Amino acid sequence: MVNKLEKKTLESWLENVKEYACEGKVADYIPALAEQNPEHLAVAIYPLKGECIYAGHSEKCFTLQSISKVISLALALIDNGEDFVFGRVGMEPSGDPFHSIYRLEQHTPSKPLNPMINAGALVVSNMIYGVNAHERVGRLLSFIHEMTDDHSIQVNENVADSEFNSAFLNRSLLYYLKQHDVIKGDVEETLDVYTKQCSVDVNVCQLARIGAVFANEGRDIHSNRQIIPRHYARICKTFMVTCGMYDASGSFAIKVGIPAKSGVSGGVMASLNQFGGIAVYGPALDEKGNSVVGLKLLEILSNRYDLSIF
Ligand code: GLU
Repeated sequence: MVNKLEKKTLESWLENVKEYACEGKVADYIPALAEQNPEHLAVAIYPLKGECIYAGHSEKCFTLQSISKVISLALALIDNGEDFVFGRVGMEPSGDPFHSIYRLEQHTPSKPLNPMINAGALVVSNMIYGVNAHERVGRLLSFIHEMTDDHSIQVNENVADSEFNSAFLNRSLLYYLKQHDVIKGDVEETLDVYTKQCSVDVNVCQLARIGAVFANEGRDIHSNRQIIPRHYARICKTFMVTCGMYDASGSFAIKVGIPAKSGVSGGVMASLNQFGGIAVYGPALDEKGNSVVGLKLLEILSNRYDLSIF
């Protein structure tokens, strides 16, 4: 079965799907992301028991982008508790593009619909404890180090600067939220935290291990130590199902059926209870913002091993 999955099988699947990369386009609204090579493709599976298996450009680092929203949500829940967090951000899918602003005007108070769209994720970043951006980002990095047992993971400052200097829409969202008292403190500081959390650099094995922690009910997969309370890990995975794949989350649930979150760098992190974490990297994106190759690979994997949770 799936535990017997071998590196050469992953390699042959990657070989089969690589032709689809030309159907997508690398994100360029963050200038540094445009430098990514659409031919860099990688996949990793981190089972709850056993070693990580991987194929492709598995050493290649890419930034978390929106995948970080799952991690920051877990930390904000730990810091503030569920009532506080969901007093400021909703639980419903939006069906809108991730950076859409117009729904904020349709609700009073201006509560973003969920933590996976930018407006909601910015509110979540604003809730992470710390006296300044440096401390907040440091806590988020420590949290990632704990999940991966890998202290080498850092912020890609080049991507962070590139996004910070071009984040006019996210600035607009933040100023709107500040005006309506949904976020506290300094807007530019929150944007600094958000752009840095989005710019954390990982490879597929590191990302698959984070996915495995969520799959393992919030526990470290080797020591079994509880890093994220089980209930919060479950909340995060539920958001991955309902809004993890932008406004293609419905079709992804039908075709693949695994909780997953994608980012505009072309990364996807998937988490399957009792199985483990899966990560895919392929920077060419479809029109919704999901990795073209990532979607194909996850579909193959899910169908081949009947992994859908539904
Ligand atoms: N940092 C990106 C932004 O806010 C994340 C978007 C994404 O990956 O969906 O635009």
